[in-house]
Amino acid sequence: MFQYRRGHAIDSPMPFSALGLSEPLLRAIADQGYNEPTPVQAAVIPAILRGEDVWASAQTGSGKTAAFVLPILQRLSTAPRVRGRFVRALVLAPTRELAAQTADSILACSRFLPVPIRTMAIFGGVSINPQMMDLGGGADVIVATPGRLLDLIDHNAVSLSAVSSLVLDEADRMLDLGFSDEVNRVITLLPARRQNLLFSATFPAAVHRLAAVLLHHPLRIDIPVEPATKPDILQRAIEVDPLRRTQLLRHLIQENQWPRVLVFVATKYATEHVAEKLRKAGINALALHGELSQGARTRVLADFKSSKIPVLLATDLAARGLDIVELPVVVNFDLPRSAADYTHRIGRTGRAGQSGLAINFISAGTHAHFRLIEKRHHLDLPREQISGFEPVEIELPAPPSTGGIKGKRKSKKDKLREAAGLPPTTPSPLSTPSSRRSANPAEPIVEPGELFPWRPSQTSVRRPR
Ligand code: AMP
Repeated sequence: MFQYRRGHAIDSPMPFSALGLSEPLLRAIADQGYNEPTPVQAAVIPAILRGEDVWASAQTGSGKTAAFVLPILQRLSTAPRVRGRFVRALVLAPTRELAAQTADSILACSRFLPVPIRTMAIFGGVSINPQMMDLGGGADVIVATPGRLLDLIDHNAVSLSAVSSLVLDEADRMLDLGFSDEVNRVITLLPARRQNLLFSATFPAAVHRLAAVLLHHPLRIDIPVEPATKPDILQRAIEVDPLRRTQLLRHLIQENQWPRVLVFVATKYATEHVAEKLRKAGINALALHGELSQGARTRVLADFKSSKIPVLLATDLAARGLDIVELPVVVNFDLPRSAADYTHRIGRTGRAGQSGLAINFISAGTHAHFRLIEKRHHLDLPREQISGFEPVEIELPAPPSTGGIKGKRKSKKDKLREAAGLPPTTPSPLSTPSSRRSANPAEPIVEPGELFPWRPSQTSVRRPR
């Protein structure tokens, strides 16, 4: 039977040295500038060091990565090594970005260990051959997206039979993206005796079911998001007509001299389209979406993180997991699909104790949707208008629902898979590039947001000036 013991977050500041971590790890912690453990770190590190299973509720930004990386490294550095294609610790991550970021964290935390820990990030979207060659040299830790990991297992490039620690990071998102079958298959390939660590921001029924098959008598840690620890993010709602959003964005960037802005739009096409318009206006902007090659995504992110380009137009691919230090502004050019996505998007700013600004563009057709997001988050933001950009479209009551047309909209699962750069589970008419443009070449290209999936089509009219 599935049982867990409830642990608790440790509130009082305690030093990392009290958690039982070795000197080389403490050095790496200091080297990264961490002064004291975050609540999730204080709560789970001792349990992981004792070899226990852990089920932790943890958001990105809580320090969850170091919470599992540090004790796993300590356990690996004191356990006998294995040779060949056997892996000792496996971290499953839902997206390539998170996998790459976690592998970076492992490198940073392991740098002073006397015996080097070989770490590999494995994900799809890039050629499998270099990954197979690299695995030939053996790896202590693999951080992988499930699909590519199974491909490599099928090629006999890696064996999971010696895994002593398994981490499922962002388990809720993994299942949202439709990885349930892959995760289950991976679990069947693991040895019976192993440590299991599950980290998830939310706990839908599917995560409970997964936890039930995976975890043995786990220590469960719930980290409440205390108001005091909530990021300091000023949220604003600016009314603007859809066709004037790019101009308003340009105006705000130039007027406020924002050094770095992450702008969320609904489609891959919109990322390219708006970025191009900004570039034409002299603002250095790039697009980030799932159709870019992995190399291009890495380059774009590196340029954004190093401030080489100040404006990044992104789909929800960038909404979760990305850790961009000093990102003062996030703009929802298109509103997110769900209240949960809203949290993830605006959580890219106001990190590491800094304050942030989240701006939402609200148009006649999206007022109702934004009110729902506000309701979920107990928000009631004043509606602002910027001089020169006052909207002329007004909101009409939404027409009664027709129930929708099956096959016309993308499912939530396919949208999330698309954001992660994965193929849809079912063919979607919206995924073909031709659907993004007018059939008549004389007509203007569809403005980003026009295809925003839930936007009711007949709810706005143009108010006479
Ligand atoms: P994560 O929740 O793992 O995505 O971590 C979010 C950010 O917190 C990353 O930039 C980490 O480098 C940083 N971080 C992790 N642990 C600490 C700590 N104890 N003190 C300060 N920052 C930390």
